[in-house]
Amino acid sequence: MLPDSLARARALLENVTPLHADCGLSCGHACCRSLEGELSGMLLFPGEDAYYADLPDYRTVDTADGPLLICPGRCARGDRPLSCRLMPLIPLVRADGIKVATDHRAKTVCPLARQGKNALSAEFVDAVRQVGRILAEDEVQRAFLEKLTAQQDELKALRNQFRRGSHV
Ligand code: SF4
Ligand code: SF4
Repeated sequence: MLPDSLARARALLENVTPLHADCGLSCGHACCRSLEGELSGMLLFPGEDAYYADLPDYRTVDTADGPLLICPGRCARGDRPLSCRLMPLIPLVRADGIKVATDHRAKTVCPLARQGKNALSAEFVDAVRQVGRILAEDEVQRAFLEKLTAQQDELKALRNQFRRGSHV
């Protein structure tokens, strides 16, 4: 069974999506496709692996950041892990509260991530903010969000460093 906070977070994004239309139609569902020979998957939130334990077609791989879900490339809406529901945004834990940002990990695959959150449905952005607030009230989920926030800051710093380097 999913932790209560995670179940509520997933429910908030059950039917609310980045665009009012199916964004996958324009990119061929790029975030659901693996590159040949590459092990790619979605990072699960703490306790989320329990949901997939008995689902055939899914497997998990342990990584330093937590279990990674390897999926069949197509899934029922209700089976999408939270990372997929949040794509291409991420809630960050900041000193002054939860902030919604574009996920730096999504920028290489998702055309919407390159446009920024202003291109997305306001309802979706708001739901992601609410997801962050719900998770931040749960000690375990909050710690995970803080880890993701630190990773996003590192990715941003690296990106900026690379940009500066490419201009010299
Ligand atoms: S979230 Fe981005 S990559 Fe995934 S289907 Fe929508 S537009 Fe494509
Ligand atoms: S779990 Fe579903 S939404 Fe997520 S990457 Fe796999 S097929 Fe796509």
